[in-house]
Amino acid sequence: MAKKATRKKATGRKAAARKPVTNAGKAKLSKTKTAKGKAPRKPAPAAPGASPSWTNAEITEAFRRFRAANPEPKGELQHVNPFTLLVAVVLSAQATDAGVNKATPALFAAADTPAKMVALGEDRVRDFIKTIGLFRNKAKNVVALSQKLMAEHGGEVPRSREALEMLPGVGRKTANVVLNIAFGEPTIAVDTHIFRIGNRTGIAPGKTPFEVEQKLEQVVPAEFKRHAHHWLILHGRYVCLARKPLCEKCLIADLCKWPGKTIVQK
Ligand code: SF4
Repeated sequence: MAKKATRKKATGRKAAARKPVTNAGKAKLSKTKTAKGKAPRKPAPAAPGASPSWTNAEITEAFRRFRAANPEPKGELQHVNPFTLLVAVVLSAQATDAGVNKATPALFAAADTPAKMVALGEDRVRDFIKTIGLFRNKAKNVVALSQKLMAEHGGEVPRSREALEMLPGVGRKTANVVLNIAFGEPTIAVDTHIFRIGNRTGIAPGKTPFEVEQKLEQVVPAEFKRHAHHWLILHGRYVCLARKPLCEKCLIADLCKWPGKTIVQK
C-alpha cells in the first residue's frame, strides 16, 4: 500500500512537473487569440473558391512585401550545377528538402555529371540515397535520366519543358523547378505548400496543382514571377503552415482572405 501511495505521489509530481509546459503552450497559443479574447478558430477547410478572390492591387502588394522581406529568395535543395539540381528535385518527390540534403553531398561528390552517375550505377546510387523515401525507384530514375541526357542531350540538362518532362522521374513540377532555378525562367512550380496557400488565401484557387499554377500565371504580376515560386514555398514552409498557420507573424495577414486566419484585420 505504502508503495502504491508513493507511486501515486510520484505520478502527481510528474503531472505537476508537466503542468508549466502545458501552461506555457497555452500562453503561446493565447498570442493567437483575436482582439475579443476568443480562442483561435480551428483551421477552416481551404476548398478551392472558399476564400474570396483578391484584387490585382492586393496581389501586387503581397508580392511587394515578400520581395521587401527577401529580395533574392533561394531554393533550399543543395546542388552544384543544373544536373545535380535536377537529380535533387527528382529525389525530393514525397520527401523533405532537409532529408534530401543529408544524402546528396556524398552522392554529388561521387557523381556530379550524367556520365559519372551512369558509371556509378544503380546499386551504388541506391546506397547513397537509401535514407530518402522511394529510394529504389528514384535510384533507377536517376541513372536512367542520366543515360538519356547523355544519349539525347550531349550530357547537358535541356532548357525545355517538353524535353525535361521526357526524362524518367521528371514531371511538370520538377521541370518548373529546374527551369526556374537553373535557367532563370519565370515558371511557378506548385508543390503542396503553394497548392495550400493558393486555395487557403484565395490568391489562386484550383482543384489541382495545374489549376493553381495556371491561376498564378494569370494573376502574379510579371515583375514578381521569377521569384513567386520561392516566396510562396518559403511562406508555406515557415509561416502559413498546414496545421497551425502562424498568422500573427504573417506579412500578408491583413490581405489574406482565409476565414480561419487567427488574427484580426489591421
Ligand atoms: S494570415 Fe497569413 S499565415 Fe494566416 S492563413 Fe493567411 S496567409 Fe496563411
